[in-house]
Formats: sequence, structure tokens, C-alpha cells
Amino acid sequence: MAAVKLVLATSNPGKLREYRVLSGPSDEIALDLLPDFSSLPSFEETAPTFAENAAGKALHYSRFTDDPLLAEDSGLVVPALGGAPGPLSARWAGPDANDADRVRKLLDEMKDRPMSERGARFLSVAALARRGEAVAIFSDFVEGVLTRAPQGAGGFGYDPIFLFEPLGRTFAEVTVEEKNLYSHRARAFRKVAAFLRSREKGLLL
Ligand code: IMP
Repeated sequence: MAAVKLVLATSNPGKLREYRVLSGPSDEIALDLLPDFSSLPSFEETAPTFAENAAGKALHYSRFTDDPLLAEDSGLVVPALGGAPGPLSARWAGPDANDADRVRKLLDEMKDRPMSERGARFLSVAALARRGEAVAIFSDFVEGVLTRAPQGAGGFGYDPIFLFEPLGRTFAEVTVEEKNLYSHRARAFRKVAAFLRSREKGLLL
């Protein structure tokens, strides 16, 4: 049976890399970037929840393709900071900040916190839509501890300070394949894949 085609709306190369490994090689899901993504009108992710941003993004970009579309909103939640950076994770240190700036800001805000208050959680909300209609939404998370300094050169975003205790390494010190065994994004994506699998292909979406 032919694979289900899924187009992804993201401008984040780190996410794209992880989704590519997650979905392939697979005869079930053929995942590709939404064509011309960067030249389409963009969706402003300004809602206070991951779910609203993910659903809004999926609805918006699904109007530019006939294929089922996947959009994801994700971020880091730090209970000691009242949930920050949260849905603002990408823009937390200002519109022009890069990953290193955001990591520095977070380490600075956490500098007086003992280990007992350094818990953090990555969240991923993955929304499916087709031609402007919502189809399904899935979410999951992974728990970790914030280190006191960046460790590792892999991954993206807050990975260098997110210690995943079962492996004793940060997400920047593991391969994409290892991160995909445990990450918030991988866990939510496996729910997407199970949903797609459970539908009669051809009647899907
Ligand atoms: P989004 O593109 O609005 O979903 O922003 C997600 C932001 O949250 C990223 O730019 C990162 O700062 C952070 N983030 C989400 N997932 C991850 C991850 O797997 N590793 C590191 N940072 C992440």
C-alpha cells in the first residue's frame, strides 16, 4: 500500500532533521517539507498555549496544500520560573536572539537555583490539518534537569542544558536517533503515526 503523504510546516532545521529520521525510512509515512514554506505568509505564534499555536499553524499552512499537513509547537517549561520560557521558547530572549543567547538567559535566570529546583520539561504538540480543517492533535513531554553550563554540540535550542537523567547526558550529547527514542517530539509523533496507521489509508483525512 502507498505511504501516507504528510507535509511539515516548519522553518526550524533542528526539528526537520528529527522528523526526517522519525518518519523514515518508512513505507507508512512519506514526510516532506511544505513546498515554498519560506515564501508563504507566515503564522504568528503568539497564543499563550502550545495547543493553540500548533492548531493555528496547522490550519493556516494547510490552506496552501492538498496534502495532510503536520505543524508542531514545542518548547521548554521550567516550573521554577512559573512555566517560562513555555510557548515563547523560540522568542524568549528577544526577536533577534539565537539559541546561544536563549541558553545564556535561561542559565542566568536559574543561577541561584539548587539542583532540587532545576527540573524542566520539553513539550511537543503536533497538530494535523487538511485544507483548512483540523483533523487531530497530539502531545507529549519529556522530563529533564537543567545543567549549570552547556554540554555537547549536537541538537538545537535548549538541548545543551537539558540533562536527560536516564542517559546521564544532555540532548546535545546524544545522536538524533537516541534523542528520538525519548524526546517529547518523538513521543508525540509516534501518536501521530499510530493515528495515521489506524485509519484506512486512502480514506485518511
Ligand atoms: P517553535 O518553533 O515555536 O515550536 O519553537 C520551539 C522552540 O522551543 C525552539 O526554537 C527551541 O528554542 C525550543 N525547543 C523545542 N523543542 C526543542 C528541542 O527538542 N530541543 C531544544 N529546544 C527545543
